[in-house]
Amino acid sequence: MPRRAPILRALPAVETLLRHPALADALARIPRPLVVEAVRAELADRRAALRRAAGAPPTPETLAAAAATRAHGALRPALRRVLNATGIVLHTNLGRAPLSAAARRAVDDVARGYCSVEFDLDTGRRGERGAGVERWLTRLTGAEAAMVVNNGAAAVLLALSALAGASANGAPRRVVVSRGELVEIGGSFRIPDVMEKSGARLLEVGTTNRTHLRDYERALDRHGREIAAILRVHPSNFRVAGFTTRPTLEELARLAHRRRVPLIEDLGSGALVDLSAMGLEREPTVRESLTAGCDVVTFSGDKLLGATQAGLILGRRRLIERLRKDPLARALRVDKLTLAALEATLPAYADPSRAAAEIPAVAMLGGAEDRLEARARSLAEALRMRVPELDVSVERGAGEVGGGALPLQRLPGWVVAVRHPARAVDELDRWARAADPPVIGYIRTGKFRMDVRTLRDDELPELAEALGRSPWPTSAPAGRPLAGAPPDALED
Ligand SMILES: *Cc1c(COP(=O)(O)O)cnc(C)c1O
Repeated sequence: MPRRAPILRALPAVETLLRHPALADALARIPRPLVVEAVRAELADRRAALRRAAGAPPTPETLAAAAATRAHGALRPALRRVLNATGIVLHTNLGRAPLSAAARRAVDDVARGYCSVEFDLDTGRRGERGAGVERWLTRLTGAEAAMVVNNGAAAVLLALSALAGASANGAPRRVVVSRGELVEIGGSFRIPDVMEKSGARLLEVGTTNRTHLRDYERALDRHGREIAAILRVHPSNFRVAGFTTRPTLEELARLAHRRRVPLIEDLGSGALVDLSAMGLEREPTVRESLTAGCDVVTFSGDKLLGATQAGLILGRRRLIERLRKDPLARALRVDKLTLAALEATLPAYADPSRAAAEIPAVAMLGGAEDRLEARARSLAEALRMRVPELDVSVERGAGEVGGGALPLQRLPGWVVAVRHPARAVDELDRWARAADPPVIGYIRTGKFRMDVRTLRDDELPELAEALGRSPWPTSAPAGRPLAGAPPDALED
């Protein structure tokens, strides 16, 4: 130890290093305490290294540059834009739907200053939060009324709480649900648990694969006034095939109305347009559910609708008014930025062909195969230029809808598959994630793959450039890779 002490003393003092020109830029951009912290950490690491093994101490130049990199790194946000090359359009872990140009402009405009979020510009008085979104939703779907909450899970929670939560006199209030619809959406959203949190009591009917109208009838006969609602849940993220049945929505609505209980539908994805027109599996639209007689329909704003995270609730005015008055409504209310994005996205739905062109998620779902192939070839070309050592090929691939929607639907498309003569495929995956912006692809059959469906045109050259700049990894990976993880590690 004592023999190395002079070398340790040869390291500059913190204050001296802070005056080095290589740190001037960091000090100008980054709060000083963070730069000081980075300098201290860098010096501590170097000191420890010198204690472990003798060697020449680093120059002040090297130290200052390393500290500057550290300081910039500390400021790098955890939430960053990434290039989604997974081919999964509504990738929950990557933020589901990208916003349309109109929505991005509206968010920027509203974020810039003050806004009329609860101010009526005609009367000069207090206005209703979300009024604009509600106007569009009722217009596009034919619903009597609408409201917006924080996400799809919140919409279900609020609907159940307001319409079937514990009654004032403490009498049990039950909600009838088919055993085939007690679904888990991902993470902690499970229908029975949400039901319990809402204060409603679950009344299961039928079996996993078959539930008949008479099962609902019997429950209503047996429990009469205790029944507060019938809940229908869209099995968004799974399919039961074979010997199955459940009543149509119309049949269920007729029964509910005869017995004077509301029919609530958790529609999950909430398509506003018929996706089968784009060659996709048929997904019930919001308007169809309302026409069939549902009294309240809930769905997400950032799944097939292609806007931002939100829970949309549509239905009869009388019921929506009860939801608005529920104390939970305030806890679940949305921010002005969410409302701005939604209100700017919805008008495109007045014309389905505009929606398909202007709403990125909808456009990506409908991406034509020949266009995708041409785009994959242009990405491959750019990659060969930027990273010549890669072995690059263009292959067929299959994307997915994601977000727990249309689970069986494959989206045939094209991918750029890469290999490196000297590096393992998981190293390629790490290298791509370390790029700026990070590139998220996936590994299959020994190649790192990038699906162009979920990349914008201008992101193709950007991706090639980002990979061209990305340093090759030297150390062990930190954390588990997202793109290479088995599907159940990712959440709907
Ligand atoms: C996705 C989904 C939800 C939850 O919606 P979030 O917006 O993710 O909170 C609820 N129910 C169903 C059927 C869903 O598919």
